[in-house]
Amino acid sequence: MPTQNECSRVTIPTMNDDGRIVSGGLKRDERENVALRPQLLKDMVGQDRVRENLKITIDAAKHRKEPLDHTLFYGPPGLGKTSLAHVIANEMGANIRITAGPSIERAGDLAAILTNLKANDILFIDEVHRLGRAVEEILYPAMEDFVLDIVIGKGPAAKNVRLRLPRFTVIGATTQLALLAAPLRDRFGSRFRLDYYDQQALQSIITRAAQMLNVPIKPEGTAEIARRSRGTPRIALRLLRRVRDFAQTRADGVITGPVSGAALELLEIDHLGLDDIDRRYLRTIIEKFNGGPVGLNTIAAAISEDQSTIESVYEPYLIQLGFTARTPRGRVALAAAYEHLGIPYDAPSHPIPPEQPPLF
Ligand code: ADP
Repeated sequence: MPTQNECSRVTIPTMNDDGRIVSGGLKRDERENVALRPQLLKDMVGQDRVRENLKITIDAAKHRKEPLDHTLFYGPPGLGKTSLAHVIANEMGANIRITAGPSIERAGDLAAILTNLKANDILFIDEVHRLGRAVEEILYPAMEDFVLDIVIGKGPAAKNVRLRLPRFTVIGATTQLALLAAPLRDRFGSRFRLDYYDQQALQSIITRAAQMLNVPIKPEGTAEIARRSRGTPRIALRLLRRVRDFAQTRADGVITGPVSGAALELLEIDHLGLDDIDRRYLRTIIEKFNGGPVGLNTIAAAISEDQSTIESVYEPYLIQLGFTARTPRGRVALAAAYEHLGIPYDAPSHPIPPEQPPLF
């Protein structure tokens, strides 16, 4: 079984680049160290439930000598969806072809990709919720019956032709499951939600990466980075690289607890991994809108950020921390957020105020 799958990049996926160091999205100026990617299921740390279930489906598919069922991974960026697609390809001994929803603009683009697939190939579609309707229409019969329906010619002379495709596996990844069309969601036989990693799992990921990067690191240094990584491996690895730079230029090269702490303070990442944008988001709700509820569009305008980035990248972690909540009338800041920012919290003895009009 090959450990390094043959990876043919069909198109360049559009990755989330919001310029933040604590963003789970891949930054454009960042070349991820491919060697750090887990190759096999046994290299994957955490996500125990997902790994266990995947192991069963992979073993069963291999036993039946069939390709794996179409599989969907969803969850915030940087938690390992792409890595899992590569791991599955390695475990199945299959080729993986990589593309992304926004890159497949026309139905013909997808038809070209599909007709080039070989039996047992894996087609990884990142940001699968961003496929256009016309493209999805081509994908449905391809996923369900392994056929491609195309129209040849135009006008009255147009002819429908049905081509048979080899059996292949689609692996989809999305940060916004709710935006995935229901018929497409239903065509994935297995669906897995990826959760934020706990402190221990992040420490293992950082320790392993430090070894591979040949960076001396002390357990307190590892713990300090893990604590500020927002439960996200990609952020942990990014912070490790920044702390390594600091250790090599401002210390003796060893990442200790104090060295990590000083490096991360300099990057303005607090002890929970919140950065300036998170704090502005929370302060906006608390100081400008009395703690909420306030609509997402209003917050987006107030902090000059994109609504969907706030929704899929910033908020999930703040919600997980119990700092904010989504209510039918808008976002509210919770007691823990006040405490974190050192703002006195008045328990709402009064009814929650109605949503305020936008300031801008
Ligand atoms: P996503 O596709 O969800 O945005 P990726 O699969 O690209 O996330 O993972 C981001 C980085 O984090 C990768 O470089 C990978 O090395 C690392 N990573 C993610 N999950 C794990 C894990 N469970 N164990 C070890 N490293 C991981």
